[in-house]
Amino acid sequence: MEEDAREKYIQAGKIAAQVMERGLREVRAGKRLLELAEFVESEIERLGGKPAFPVNISVNHIAAHYSPTAWDETRFEENDLVKLDIGVHVDGYIADIARSIVVGGEKNELILASEEALQRAIEIIRPGVRTSEIGAAVEETIRRHGFKPVENLTGHRLGRYSLHGGMTVPNVRTRHGDVLREGDVVAIEPFATTGAGRVVDEKEAIIFRYLRDRPLRMRESRAILAYVKKNFGGLPFAERWVAHLAPRHRLQLALRELAYSGAIYAYRILREKKRAPVAQAEHTVMVTSDGCVVTTG
Ligand code: MN
Ligand code: MN
Repeated sequence: MEEDAREKYIQAGKIAAQVMERGLREVRAGKRLLELAEFVESEIERLGGKPAFPVNISVNHIAAHYSPTAWDETRFEENDLVKLDIGVHVDGYIADIARSIVVGGEKNELILASEEALQRAIEIIRPGVRTSEIGAAVEETIRRHGFKPVENLTGHRLGRYSLHGGMTVPNVRTRHGDVLREGDVVAIEPFATTGAGRVVDEKEAIIFRYLRDRPLRMRESRAILAYVKKNFGGLPFAERWVAHLAPRHRLQLALRELAYSGAIYAYRILREKKRAPVAQAEHTVMVTSDGCVVTTG
């Protein structure tokens, strides 16, 4: 990898790790999720990065893809299991980090299981390791704690301005796997649950991504599409980030038209199938000649 790219990955990782520490300290009962989201995203910019995706703040049985709307009144409640998932990029080089926390409480077993699974995975990463071996290590660790890994959520390779660089890293043992090579940058993200070990889609989406230009009926749809193409390119954006472009009702109609027409991709909110709590731990690692470096460590 080019030295310039390596430095930017490391810089993005440092920003992400710092913002995570600050963000976690702001999680307390009574606080609005929207306030935390705005704090996290402004801290990223203050430290010299840009959000690589809207901060995900997913609570209890919501596993991923929740980000507060501009009108969100949701507040943290005592004992909520909160997953804070932060993405930072510097010139397109991305760091992706997630931690879980219990509001007003100590780390529970589920969180410890996801964190230990992440550590086990990081320990075995080196050139030549198969993603299936990583999945097996994650699954074994989580099952040893008496929980299930979420089988249909995975880690992923990162590319410049790309969150999914064509390779996934499973959280369960798989038959086949890709081989990691020196220079690969991958996000490892075990999810542990007491439920079925699967997530399902909710109908609602709050996070989207530009896909292609399409003919559109609504004026607001055309304005939103031009704006997100210019400002976020192929990286995800939040409904909140385009809320200034239309009144609430028109905004939601426009986003629906955009998703339906195939102009944008809608990341539906993902919940655990049995509505059981889910914990997540995530780091971004760069594969080196003899192991890996945790950029978000
Ligand atoms: Mn993440
Ligand atoms: Mn990720």
